[in-house]
Amino acid sequence: MLHFIDVILPIPLQKAFTYHITEAESQFLSPGMRVSVPFGKSKIYTALVYSIHKDPPTAYDAKTIHQIMDDVPVVTETQLKHWEWISSYYMCSLGEVMRAAMPNAFLLESETIISRNEKVNIEASELKDEEYLIYEALQHQSSLKINDVVSILDKKRVLPIINSLVEKGVLNLQEEMYEKYTPKLVRYVKLHHNHKSQEKLQILLEELSRAPKQREVVLTLFTMESSLKQPIKVSDLADRSGASTSIVKTLIDKNILEEYHIQVDRVQFDGDGDSDAKRLSEAQQDAYNEVEAIFKEKSVALLHGVTSSGKTEIYVQLIQNQLDIGKQVLYLLPEIALTTQLVGRLQDYFGDKVAVFHSRYTGNERVEVWQNMLANSEKAQVIIGARSSLLLPFRNLGLIIVDEEHESSYKQFDPAPRYHARDAAIVLANIFKAKTLLGSATPSLESYFNASQGKYGLVELNTRYNNVLMPDIELVDLADKYKRKRMKGHFSDRLIQEMTETLEEGFQIILFQNRRGFSPIIECTSCGTSPQCPNCDVSLTYHQYRDQLRCHYCGYNSVMLKSCQACGNSTLDTKGFGTEQIEQEVKVLFPDKKVARMDLDTTRGKYGFEKIINSFEQREVDILVGTQMLTKGLDFRFVKLVGIMNADNLLNFPDFRAHERSYQLMAQVSGRAGRTDLRGKVLIQTYNPHHNILQQVSTNAYKEMFAEQMNERYNFKYPPIFRLIKITFKHKDYDRVNLAADWYAKSLKQLFKANVLGPEFPPVSRIRNLYHKNILVKIPQNQSLAKTKEAIRKIDNSFNAVKDFRPVRVIINVDNY
Ligand code: ADP
Ligand code: ZN
Repeated sequence: MLHFIDVILPIPLQKAFTYHITEAESQFLSPGMRVSVPFGKSKIYTALVYSIHKDPPTAYDAKTIHQIMDDVPVVTETQLKHWEWISSYYMCSLGEVMRAAMPNAFLLESETIISRNEKVNIEASELKDEEYLIYEALQHQSSLKINDVVSILDKKRVLPIINSLVEKGVLNLQEEMYEKYTPKLVRYVKLHHNHKSQEKLQILLEELSRAPKQREVVLTLFTMESSLKQPIKVSDLADRSGASTSIVKTLIDKNILEEYHIQVDRVQFDGDGDSDAKRLSEAQQDAYNEVEAIFKEKSVALLHGVTSSGKTEIYVQLIQNQLDIGKQVLYLLPEIALTTQLVGRLQDYFGDKVAVFHSRYTGNERVEVWQNMLANSEKAQVIIGARSSLLLPFRNLGLIIVDEEHESSYKQFDPAPRYHARDAAIVLANIFKAKTLLGSATPSLESYFNASQGKYGLVELNTRYNNVLMPDIELVDLADKYKRKRMKGHFSDRLIQEMTETLEEGFQIILFQNRRGFSPIIECTSCGTSPQCPNCDVSLTYHQYRDQLRCHYCGYNSVMLKSCQACGNSTLDTKGFGTEQIEQEVKVLFPDKKVARMDLDTTRGKYGFEKIINSFEQREVDILVGTQMLTKGLDFRFVKLVGIMNADNLLNFPDFRAHERSYQLMAQVSGRAGRTDLRGKVLIQTYNPHHNILQQVSTNAYKEMFAEQMNERYNFKYPPIFRLIKITFKHKDYDRVNLAADWYAKSLKQLFKANVLGPEFPPVSRIRNLYHKNILVKIPQNQSLAKTKEAIRKIDNSFNAVKDFRPVRVIINVDNY
């Protein structure tokens, strides 16, 4: 009797691949275990066992596997079920889902590059012979491919040996990031406890009467301590008292002042897990009760709570309930890097039970979370993560919270699987018979529509915690300001005035500008030409800091031009503006204030965000300039003013969701203002103060926005009324892209008639030297989605049978965002 396994390979194969195994192997193996297998001429892959059977493949001779790599499955049955749904719904291969799900360290393959971890020194005696051979080879060579190891050891069964070396920390896999974070320590001072009382302070001041500078420092510290009621930094004390830090040091040495450090580090566990949950306010309690009631009948609830209404505390209660009955909770966030604040808050409550799954984590950190979850360890009961954490091995899931559910970054764009984490979360929860809570101050039209149809339960929370008023939003008419010469650079007199007052009162400011860089476009004032990216169909963006022109699509850069390449004139001018320019203008307007910038350029690296967020939280920065990164659920206590530099480039974005997005973005940025006691202020600068969306933002009229946008979606046949599948064609040859897309569109139109749009070139139609062309298939509610996809699959197969078309990359994006 012959035995076979079907395996999932981590590549875009449409079908599972079959290998031959022995009788003994067939008894040992079960789905979810890994095996190493040969593929093609010389490739080795780690594959996942999908099924065990006795049917030989008909189209090819099954090869035998190299080796079994696990004693027990590393992927669970429910995971496989969920992955299958993703693969079928989003039209991609199971292998692609597996790749997205599993840490690289789990999927060694012939192309994986290994190198020695310089930080680990290991005795030869601790290594097995074959391990030592690899270790030694890496003393002479900086890196090896797995295939090189195959020749060094002269055998095919090498992956377990490499796995073992990776586990011992001897090897690094190349894809990993190794940035190490040294916790930042901030130095603070206080009056030494010997001098705390009024009398003792008097005595001290008399003693210091002959050292006036020291005396001044002590006096200043005393006033600062009583007026600020927050830790005082050494540098601030020196500034305020006009003394040098060396005088402060003398006082510390004399035990008059006391120095202490606070570690501003939020990724590590600083929460000890014993903080009591806060008492919910009446409004919060009501909302909480409503959620619980909905969960008795429905599996999904949408919590629509205005910014700073205290949604997180409601989540905390719901999480606690699940932990009490021994269930796991998944807390999904749009972008984990931005939410260290939240991680800290949850760790305060749940301590070690919280596991964070971070896309920027190294392979080993990810493997650890995975293993803890497989073992259903105490350390993995509350999992916080971005979209890919949906793909982890949950054991006993009771609840998924999708925070900021409206965020478009929940949809994976590239590469496949192009899944929407909110939607895939609901499916995952259903597999576990668990519940899903969607939360947002500005729900997506999709979710609010589903709620209004009764598909989801809806809970509204309309008041801010502590009854703080919603910020006062004022629209500033730029056309009028320019006409009356009331502008300095990009700042209206109103904005400058509000900024000045806010700073005088000691509060902080956030300025929002949707673009990074100094100014997006450089234009020749004489012939109007703008320098273009040689690889993409876009203008280059000027980055003043490096005096460079950069392409935001492919990363191409060149030095700033001295003259126009078209006409040779040296009158290049800047058009539009980005965060970098705003930052610079602020520095000129408020020279004594500290300004920081938060955008893609300043936040690279594992802890890029944390550093900026921390220093803003610590009030080392007065004004923070940033892109939409600023919008995502940050809770700053001292921000009183938010300025939106230009609303128009949001509103005019060529996309059917542009208006919805603009509303969400502006409402969210505005929500950063006045989160504690004082009412916040928001200024929105625009050329269209009468635009409906701006009116709705400024009056907090979500429902009005919803109704109006839904109307448009009905009229123009867009989601959530119609579903969309976008098909993109990419090739370096313009004519070939056209032919391919035309052929495909024609086939689609035969079936779906007027519900096929295009093919059309997108606004940026060439990226990295490839031409792009899109077809949009609109699917009415009464048309089966499954049948539609099946039809597209068939067309796709015929398409791929045409030799000329095969080199054209076709990307299918279901529920395109
Ligand atoms: P949201 O997520 O709805 O924008 P948060 O959950 O961040 O709001 O809450 C806003 C602020 O109010 C936070 O600083 C939070 O600590 C505080 N807060 C919310 N609920 C409570 C409560 N019940 N007791 C004390 N403070 C609360
Ligand atoms: Zn480019």
